Amino acid sequence: PRKFFVGGNWKMNGDKKSLGELIQTLNAAKVNADTEVVCGAPFIYLEFARKQLDSKFGVAAQNCYKVSKGAFTGEISDEAVVVCGPGLQLFSVSCGEHLHVEKTQLIGQKVSHALSEGLGVVACIGEKLDEREAGITEKVVFEQTKVIADNVKDWSKVVLAYEPVWAIGTGKTATPQQAQEVHEKLRKWLKENVSETVADSVRIIYGGSVTGASCKELGSQQDVDGFLVGGASLKPEFVTIINARQ
Ligand code: 13P
Repeated sequence: PRKFFVGGNWKMNGDKKSLGELIQTLNAAKVNADTEVVCGAPFIYLEFARKQLDSKFGVAAQNCYKVSKGAFTGEISDEAVVVCGPGLQLFSVSCGEHLHVEKTQLIGQKVSHALSEGLGVVACIGEKLDEREAGITEKVVFEQTKVIADNVKDWSKVVLAYEPVWAIGTGKTATPQQAQEVHEKLRKWLKENVSETVADSVRIIYGGSVTGASCKELGSQQDVDGFLVGGASLKPEFVTIINARQ
């Protein structure tokens, strides 16, 4: 059985006051022991989040660059991310940075570098609305997954997040059937292109307008192993989402 994984992606939101309040709510919440929960904090609040959040929560950075140091103005090193502590997860490809062709190589390099530095990776893939309407969802997500797969040796540190671009921050959640259909196909792709063991063990989580109201049915789908949550992860409602599988 795959451990349920819920990531809260705070994106570029919050300050010490609002995040402090959110953290108090999270710390007071009961979390199902069978669920792994990780909060993706803005870089400047990583240390704050790690200090304030109860140890039952992991803390993640939202990105890091493809090399550890150098003349890369404005980029963040994996070394800076280690402040998150041991159970670290890295959102290497989060919202807005989906694997579009021009970025493909860089994303692959980031995934490869993060893994080689011992970080975990939540790698996001997903089709745009016009791609879904053109019936090429499968082709798009397989291509994106291949870029990730080409850069992964140890899959135990990787969570795959299916985030249809049209569902991100739009209030348009994929239906449980839509999510399950893509997740199932992704698992089959992993089986055929990586290995059966990897296909069985890798968590494939769903992201895109997940709410307290939609999480139960989504989370009960056979191949949906958790969520990557944006907007709702900043609200007390995140506690409901964390416990979707109870
Ligand atoms: P929303 O939950 O706000 O749609 O964001 C999803 C997402 O991009 C998480 O990384």
